[in-house]
Amino acid sequence: MGILSKKYVLPDLPYKYDALEPAISEEIMRLHHDKHHAAYVNGANAAFEKLDKGRAAGFQGVDVKAILRDLSFNASGHMLHSLFWTNMSPKGGGKPGGSLADQINTDFGNFDSFELELSSAAKTVEGSGWGMLAYDPLSEQLLTLQVEKHQNLAVQEAIPLLVVDVWEHAYYLQYRNDRGAFVDKWWDTISWSDVESRFGKAKK
Ligand code: FE
Repeated sequence: MGILSKKYVLPDLPYKYDALEPAISEEIMRLHHDKHHAAYVNGANAAFEKLDKGRAAGFQGVDVKAILRDLSFNASGHMLHSLFWTNMSPKGGGKPGGSLADQINTDFGNFDSFELELSSAAKTVEGSGWGMLAYDPLSEQLLTLQVEKHQNLAVQEAIPLLVVDVWEHAYYLQYRNDRGAFVDKWWDTISWSDVESRFGKAKK
């Protein structure tokens, strides 16, 4: 028998579905978490099952490329949504403190120019994707990134710290086609204590 791959589990939201209102409506949070995020978890687990079968069969007649495409798409979706939920809090907003604040000032000049850069990145992602703040250990700096079609990470060693989902399912019910208004409101939900602790771990 093949080696059994580990399975992903859909995490509960760390707050109630309506906790991020008015920035993000309960209806969006229910659909986004219970349907969209759950689909990524199920899709990744289905890919693991296919891999297990392929391994057991010595990959005879098994389309490895298709399975790995499925796996990276769904596993990345799972990872990014898990990060997105914990990046937000009903007590979110404001500005970060500690060494993250220092690093933002060093790398972006000040918080306002960082906010402008990350907002611009999120608002202009072509098609579906994510805006991201990541730490690049190689250059020892923070980077804003656009993650198009979310399985493609532009800087492979960079460690994601803060993400905003700009797929239409993240905002359409409440903001229609105004992605910019959603991104502007999203800043009121950011849990800077979560981002600060991720930054602390990334620096180690
Ligand atoms: Fe999403």
